[in-house]
Amino acid sequence: MTAGFLEDMTALLGSGGVLTGGDVAMRSADPFRVVPVVADAILRPRDTGEVSAILAAAARHGVVIVTHGGRTGVSGGVDSRAGEVVVSLERMNRIVEVDLVGRTIIAEAGVTIEALHAAAEASGLYYPVDLGARGSATVGGTIATNAGGNRTLRWGMTRDRVLGLEAVLPDGTVVSSLNRLVKNNTGYDLKQLFIGAEGTLGIVTQAVFRVVPKPISHEVAMVAVPDNAAMLRLLDAMQHLVSLSAFELIYPEFYESVTQPEVQPRPLPLGAHGYVLVEAMGYDAASDRAQFEAILERMLEEGVASDAVIAQSEAQRAALWKVRESVDVAVKAIFPLAMFDVSLGVADIDLYVRTVRERLEAAFPAAKMIVQGHVGDNNIHLGITVGPDTPAHEHAVDAIVYEALVPFGGSMSAEHGIGTLKNEWLRVSRNPAEIALMRAIKQTLDPANRLNPRVLF
Ligand SMILES: Cc1cc2nc3c(=O)[nH]c(=O)nc-3n(C[C@H](O)[C@H](O)[C@H](O)COP(=O)(O)OP(=O)(O)OC[C@H]3O[C@@H](n4cnc5c(N)ncnc54)[C@H](O)[C@@H]3O)c2cc1C
Repeated sequence: MTAGFLEDMTALLGSGGVLTGGDVAMRSADPFRVVPVVADAILRPRDTGEVSAILAAAARHGVVIVTHGGRTGVSGGVDSRAGEVVVSLERMNRIVEVDLVGRTIIAEAGVTIEALHAAAEASGLYYPVDLGARGSATVGGTIATNAGGNRTLRWGMTRDRVLGLEAVLPDGTVVSSLNRLVKNNTGYDLKQLFIGAEGTLGIVTQAVFRVVPKPISHEVAMVAVPDNAAMLRLLDAMQHLVSLSAFELIYPEFYESVTQPEVQPRPLPLGAHGYVLVEAMGYDAASDRAQFEAILERMLEEGVASDAVIAQSEAQRAALWKVRESVDVAVKAIFPLAMFDVSLGVADIDLYVRTVRERLEAAFPAAKMIVQGHVGDNNIHLGITVGPDTPAHEHAVDAIVYEALVPFGGSMSAEHGIGTLKNEWLRVSRNPAEIALMRAIKQTLDPANRLNPRVLF
């Protein structure tokens, strides 16, 4: 069915622009395990014009398109099938413009977040969205999933950093909406159609980001807390720091599994209720450090913190962050697992985690759960295994995790999106009228359902 289409694509993109066979299967659709990509081809456009030509031709031939960024998404959003074609933005990896005065950067969709950071820092600027997958996650993928990450507490999610973008609709129409202005109330904010839409309404090809001056101070500490009330008091105290940039909670099972002697040093001994990574980034090195230390000292004196270590060098800051970001290590320890990314009021998180743990253990004696997350912005990640990875087990675990959220008014996806793995549970967080409106938007822009067809719904 795609043969004629692929002939057209080879003529358009050249042989290096069309991958087939083993070159497709050697890529994984999952960041934590090897799940070979299944598709008739991977197309690698070099510019927006080529993306437009691909989608126009796909519309003529009735070909289904699945878009790939860095393939670090954890909700199955890049899942494709035989008979479908992948469009990867990997060759659209240019930084288009850095505006020092307006403090904006325009980047193509295939630029990695690490490369965006480097481009900003080379000009004394800072792009504050940061996540463990920064080396592979892309501009397009983070926009499509509205990625949050480590510093949402201070600078917001991807949505808060995007001033404008360019996208190609399923029929090949290019919508160039590269706004650079903070204030621009001229009708519908069209960029929002594509931010967090998980590639269901169009392919993002470039974006204008709002950046900030590069901070000159950077403090990181790991703090042990004796109980949940102490964790909440620590959060409240740290939020008095205008320079607070991260507040990340690690539960003991995760902490213990990623700080084994053969893996990496353990900054603080075991035995605490939880371990909090706190970070501050500011613009006055001397007073930032003094304020950071003063709050931590007070927390130790008051017994809110049972122990703490403050990094004294860049290497130590990186080592503390590595404990928090060793998700791959923790995941290996309890594989096979299901990952969850939920959001609820910070005061409710502990009770929610205990509720899920109790229900899991009652249903599955072999259940194990690791917990960590961006608690400063109400977001917790659960990694759960209950034994063999069967559809029945998956469904039962999903039901426990999501149904326990309902009384708390929580969201079943804080930042990872719905993808193809969680669509059955969208109803937990969205009411029928919201889902109907979302479907109507999809129907308007992609009536034949040819773009990421199994994502979201
Ligand atoms: C170790 C690790 C840590 C992580 N930490 C975080 C975290 O802290 N916060 C967080 O939010 N996420 C996190 N993630 C999840 C993941 O990195 C994000 O979802 C990221 O935004 C995905 O970007 P990507 O380029 O890899 O997109 P992909 O995985 O390639 O794609 C994700 C979705 O976006 C669509 N898409 C990709 N590019 C485009 C485009 N140009 N136009 C339209 N649609 C597109 C795809 O079709 C898919 O539906 C983490 C993942 C890993 C592996």
